[in-house]
Amino acid sequence: MSRKTVTVTDEVYDYLVRVGVREHPVLQRLRQATTREAGDAANMQISPDQGAFMALLIKLAGARRALEAGTFTGYSTLAVALALPEDGSIVACDVSEPWTAIACRFWAEAGVANKIDLRLAPALETMDALLAAGEASSFDFAFLDAEKTEYDAYYERCLKLLRPGGLIAVDNVLWSGRVADRGVQDENTRAIRALNEKLARDERVDVALVPIADGLFLARKRR
Ligand code: CA
Repeated sequence: MSRKTVTVTDEVYDYLVRVGVREHPVLQRLRQATTREAGDAANMQISPDQGAFMALLIKLAGARRALEAGTFTGYSTLAVALALPEDGSIVACDVSEPWTAIACRFWAEAGVANKIDLRLAPALETMDALLAAGEASSFDFAFLDAEKTEYDAYYERCLKLLRPGGLIAVDNVLWSGRVADRGVQDENTRAIRALNEKLARDERVDVALVPIADGLFLARKRR
């Protein structure tokens, strides 16, 4: 038995996506449009296998209300929205008008724009507004991306916004491996590393760190 995750070469990755991902045609077109229109920023988009994994989590959790910090061109939002039930909804937080304008086109094309509540503001402001509006313990799922230096603040707010049993998924927690290299001490790496260490010991949640894409830390709120 191997103690390590398999090395995912390009060939293995293509295989994984071919057999393991049922990508909705609009998700496929959104991915292509992002590559075309966003240039180097396109790598902020989550991968198709991660989208499929998150969609499955939504269904497993029976989630109805979701929230994400960091929408970009809306691939993760759309993957989640498609997996939510008809009466489900997702609050999408981002500060970029141009990136989310691309998102809106494809949400409409997929027929799920009615499930998506886009808030153009820093995610922390939107989370605070939701808490102030009495929406604590009303969310089932939260996806944290956006500003890495705000990860701990997002996490604490989402713990309040989530119902017991709700799930938080934190993206980029392996940070291309830099979190494991003590020689790397920039602000973003330190912020991600700090949240990872906190999650490892946090008694308020059950956790698993999944080495999909750039690493996804799953934390389920206990009570
Ligand atoms: Ca990300």
